[in-house]
Amino acid sequence: MLSSLKSICFICSNLIPPEVINKIFDIASIEEVVGEYVTLKRAGANFKGLCPFHDDKSPSMSVSPSKGIFKCFSCGEGGNIFQFIMQHEGLSYPLAIKFLANKYNIKIDEGQIDVDELKEEARIKDGVYACLEFAKNHFHERLNLSQDGKVIYKPYLTERGINQLTIDHFHIGLSGSQRDHLLQEGIKNGYTSQQLFDAGLVKKINDDQGIIESNLRDTFLDRIVFPIFSVSGKVLGFGGRIIKKDTKAPKYLNSPETVVYEKRKELYGLNLCKQSIRKNDAVFLVEGYMDVVSLHQNGVDNVVAASGTAFTEEQARLIKRFTHQVTMLFDGDTAGVNASLKHIQTLLSADINVQVVLFPVDDDPDSFIQKRGSSVFHDYVKDSAKNFVDLIQEVKLAKGTSDPIQKAEAARLVAENIAALPDPLKRAAFISETSSKLNIPEQIIIAEVNKFRVNNRKQKDREGRRVQQENKSVISQGPPSGFEYQPDYKQSNTHEFIDSKNYQEEELLKTLILHADKEFSEDLTVAEFIFNEFEEEQIWPISEDFRQIFRDAHTHLKEHKVLNELYFIRNAASSKIAAEVLSVRHNLSKGWEDNYEKFVKSDQENYKSQVIDNLNYLKLKHIDLLMKENQEKLKIAETEEDVTILQQVHDNLLKIRQKITDQSGTVIS
Ligand SMILES: [Zn+2]
Repeated sequence: MLSSLKSICFICSNLIPPEVINKIFDIASIEEVVGEYVTLKRAGANFKGLCPFHDDKSPSMSVSPSKGIFKCFSCGEGGNIFQFIMQHEGLSYPLAIKFLANKYNIKIDEGQIDVDELKEEARIKDGVYACLEFAKNHFHERLNLSQDGKVIYKPYLTERGINQLTIDHFHIGLSGSQRDHLLQEGIKNGYTSQQLFDAGLVKKINDDQGIIESNLRDTFLDRIVFPIFSVSGKVLGFGGRIIKKDTKAPKYLNSPETVVYEKRKELYGLNLCKQSIRKNDAVFLVEGYMDVVSLHQNGVDNVVAASGTAFTEEQARLIKRFTHQVTMLFDGDTAGVNASLKHIQTLLSADINVQVVLFPVDDDPDSFIQKRGSSVFHDYVKDSAKNFVDLIQEVKLAKGTSDPIQKAEAARLVAENIAALPDPLKRAAFISETSSKLNIPEQIIIAEVNKFRVNNRKQKDREGRRVQQENKSVISQGPPSGFEYQPDYKQSNTHEFIDSKNYQEEELLKTLILHADKEFSEDLTVAEFIFNEFEEEQIWPISEDFRQIFRDAHTHLKEHKVLNELYFIRNAASSKIAAEVLSVRHNLSKGWEDNYEKFVKSDQENYKSQVIDNLNYLKLKHIDLLMKENQEKLKIAETEEDVTILQQVHDNLLKIRQKITDQSGTVIS
């Protein structure tokens, strides 16, 4: 029995061998995995950072290198390295393992992964990522090696000042010039029409017809393509630029939204620039791919572009993980000014400090740095960076004007931006700056700011109600059929959500995680005692999820002769709850500890009575089930004798029940 279990991984219950998973755990430290996405600052033995899973204003996420876990104290997200990658990259558990194995060059035999067990969506994503990676390499090769590439497109890039090193660094490529070029190449290389379609690389010719070869054509034709990468370096899609003049096709074209690509969540260049952004604690935000590429080549490597016209809340949040200082580098024409004004408010609401640099008309950051070099560029940025008050004053007020209508409009626009600032001290500072610069009394500006804040709040309330309404309608539809109660760890901080029956089993699991290898009696550890009770009293937990976790832990204990918190941290089914209990204990602030010292101590000392209490609850649960069963039998009992026996059973169960409640000092209805 035990030897047959060895080939299956307890940790993931998939066919990835435990050695591989443990190797990843040993090599990939939690602070490194999380640190790829979030700026972490040391806080004692742990690290702290802004949680990427909710809109975090102050660092709520704690990372414990010694335990290998992360935990957000605001939204409750937590777990080991794989949970982090699953959440962040939207991957299934096996794919998260593959993701990290890849990153750390640990070999997994693909045959060991049971593809059928992967969730459908994860499988689609996997195929889409593979297609996109293939397309990236194919396009890049085509730019470097094809006749078109060598004669037309490379010379064009060279003329625009882009060298080979940069082409390789950004994996710039060239799409096909026939309408089914990539479609055919993809199919030749083992990808299906469906996968290429899901990846946004081909599109339907006739919308009414299906995804069949004859109805598909390449998305990108005759374009220089810039792969768009995720923060962690996976290809998500492409931006394509046409250089032919005699065409009606748009100059720029982006990949459509797909299962892996949501424009509003990505920033071009971030994967290559994130280290530098962190190091400089500042980022330049530009309008186009060429600006990013060109600045990067000229040594300005903390620069990103928003793909798409609107700059979103999600993108602001993404930036905030690496820095709070944004300098926008925009064209000085009307379109550039309007775009920058739109972006500012989004950045300000995210509590990011924004400066704007407008380039002379007929110049953009790309052409500017190419013409004048990086030192002139830096000087120019330093001299012309403005905050939003100055920017608005400059673009909305004609020089030296005293036109009261222009002044009022400028003041209103400034007030609208001030209203977006979440920090009241910053608001106050900008109000007084605006008052003196526009020569308008502070009280009037305050009143205007407040008007906008009230409006913003009303709008937020409306949105909140709409979301609530939507959630309600989802709930009222009820769970899908065949759905059984599943403990939702996400809400385990707020126990009113937890089914009280499962709450006790959860408490028992928490006790086990915290104290498994501690002594319970002279010859038994806490874990051994609990499992003995389960076996002898036949009281394995009733809810399926918890029972499985306990059963797996029991098997592990029998096989390895040890069971401790490390097992629960590494086990996929228990790591989130392990992160919850283990982080709480190790992140008590000094003040909390002083105030609640007694409580903390008693928690430490009372684990034995906690074990007994939780086991008693479990026994009561089982007795209640037996009594219910017995009642049912009584209802249909046919002979006098049966009734007597069943009544005796009932009385006995009642007695046992009474004994247990007396012992626990609790009466459970
Ligand atoms: Zn969070």
